[in-house]
Amino acid sequence: MNSLKCPNCNSEMKKVKEQDIIIDRCENCGGIFLDKGELNILATGMSGDIEFCSIDNDFHKDNFGIRKCPKCSDQKMRKINLLSYSNIIFDFCPKCEGFFLDEGELNAMNNELQEIYDSKFPEEYRGNIGKHLVRLDKIVDSNIFSFSSLRHPIANLKYSFFLRLSIYYDQSFDIGLRLYSDKWTGNFLKVIGMLNKQNIQTGIEEFDSIFIIQGREKEKVRNLFRSKKIQKELIDFISDKPQMLSIEGKLEINDKQIIFTEGPYSEEGSYDVENDHQKIVARLIKLASLFEESMKKITFE
Ligand SMILES: [Zn+2]
Ligand SMILES: [Zn+2]
Repeated sequence: MNSLKCPNCNSEMKKVKEQDIIIDRCENCGGIFLDKGELNILATGMSGDIEFCSIDNDFHKDNFGIRKCPKCSDQKMRKINLLSYSNIIFDFCPKCEGFFLDEGELNAMNNELQEIYDSKFPEEYRGNIGKHLVRLDKIVDSNIFSFSSLRHPIANLKYSFFLRLSIYYDQSFDIGLRLYSDKWTGNFLKVIGMLNKQNIQTGIEEFDSIFIIQGREKEKVRNLFRSKKIQKELIDFISDKPQMLSIEGKLEINDKQIIFTEGPYSEEGSYDVENDHQKIVARLIKLASLFEESMKKITFE
């Protein structure tokens, strides 16, 4: 195979081994070209899809001009921002979905990712309310972060965090349940292969238009949502655009817990679950109880 011409300096690029893969590196300027999927392999400590940053339609500029993809003749590459709070700009080919990284950019990326991992915030609250364990965490999650930041300009601030409120059931349902209130999130997770199951339709139009539902035991999952009370409570909850502070949150329901996530926020503060967020906590606890009831019915049917 012919060697690629460096999109930066036009020198011949060499095949070199980096971690477990062979990539193209320019010995003159130190730039590297990565085929689709290779950036994810070289991204250390990432559980999500770093290449997702390529879905970035904002205009970005770096110290280099517009480059052409070394693989696709005459195809112009786009400047894309690694994570919107970083100042790392990669060149991305929309045709073959390859990336060109200038010297040092791979290290810079991995340093950023390391920082995200290190800056995980501690638990803010943990307590039993009624018979339910309730937890509030401040999190900086790389998965949530990379896609939410595309839609929330505030995430440009480096120390943004999300509030995650979790209500645990007394025992796991064990039916592989996943519900998302945000179709975009659900579809995104599907794209990156975290959810490879088919969506389950409940047959209730309004419900199916708001929520993405998946599950290992489809019939049980369908039956779980047959409860009119659950349907109404879920639709009402989302329709009320719930929020603890000021950004509308998202709902995720699985076998073990109901999770309400909102953010990103940039200011530190303390959060009093039992007082300040009493209403939202009460509604989620009600939901958790309804799910537990419905689950019992299914089990005894
Ligand atoms: Zn070069
Ligand atoms: Zn290309």
